[in-house]
Amino acid sequence: MTCPSFSFQECVTNPRELGLLADCESCFGLCCVALPFSASADFAVDKAGGQPCHNLSDDFRCSIHTRLRERGFPGCTVFDCFGAGQKVSQVTYEGRSWREEPGTARQMYAVFPVMRQLHELLWYLAEALTLEAARPVHDALRSALAETEGLTRESADVLEKLDVAAHRGAVNGLLLRASELARAGLKGKERRGADLIGARLRGAGLRGANLRGAYLIGADLRGADLRQADLIGADLRGADLSGADLTGCVFLTQAQVNAAKGDTATRLPASLARPAHWTEGGAAERAGGGRGRRSADGGGGERAAGGRGRRPRRR
Ligand code: SF4
Repeated sequence: MTCPSFSFQECVTNPRELGLLADCESCFGLCCVALPFSASADFAVDKAGGQPCHNLSDDFRCSIHTRLRERGFPGCTVFDCFGAGQKVSQVTYEGRSWREEPGTARQMYAVFPVMRQLHELLWYLAEALTLEAARPVHDALRSALAETEGLTRESADVLEKLDVAAHRGAVNGLLLRASELARAGLKGKERRGADLIGARLRGAGLRGANLRGAYLIGADLRGADLRQADLIGADLRGADLSGADLTGCVFLTQAQVNAAKGDTATRLPASLARPAHWTEGGAAERAGGGRGRRSADGGGGERAAGGRGRRPRRR
């Protein structure tokens, strides 16, 4: 469902009403077709962009959905399209799939990553509007959100040619200002874009830190205090967040959390779900908090915990 009006903060800050929660049932399996991946610890095989994954069924469901990790596809449990898949499938292409109309395939695959970036921006803008301290820029945030949402409703031709990087750049300045207002007075560390790969940060005091775009791959963040830290675009792949406190983090996404390690003691923002793979046989704590293409046999074991997808390639 799409927000019918941007006049009400309650509406614009609700990811579900903004259509930012992935609904794989309404998608033509776009992340399983349009995006490439390489054989690695995350994916068992190579796949070119535009080539349907061999595990994708005719009904656009993943045939190994409940066994992705055992079958060598943990990367598929990480990605989040922010609802871009269903927007392209049902709005841009009005329910006509690339299987029904193969002539649309090339452009549909090109539009999908553009739409994903726009939806990711909508997610951040909606979150920024929940930050009380960012009230001085709320009007500008609402305008940016309305403009971005409008772009998502453009035609495939317009979307394919859209300079999404320029739009991201303009919105990013606004998000940065909102973040600064939210973290003002906390005297957080300045680590924007820092190379912290494998860093030993156990128990570190990172409250209110600026970790925008930081490389935290494999970092030991056990027990770290990350409250109110800005983690937009931070690469948390394999970072150990066991026992860490991330409450009040700014611009942390489900995909980032899914890519990290953690445990039952990790404290997350209320809007994010604890990944099932953090706890043995665990289930997500937030109803509908995850995503995932249901398996061909209807199974939904990983559905509530980020069940299908692919690691974001940019960052
Ligand atoms: S979820 Fe992963 S393994 Fe399953 S069809 Fe999609 S890309 Fe293939």
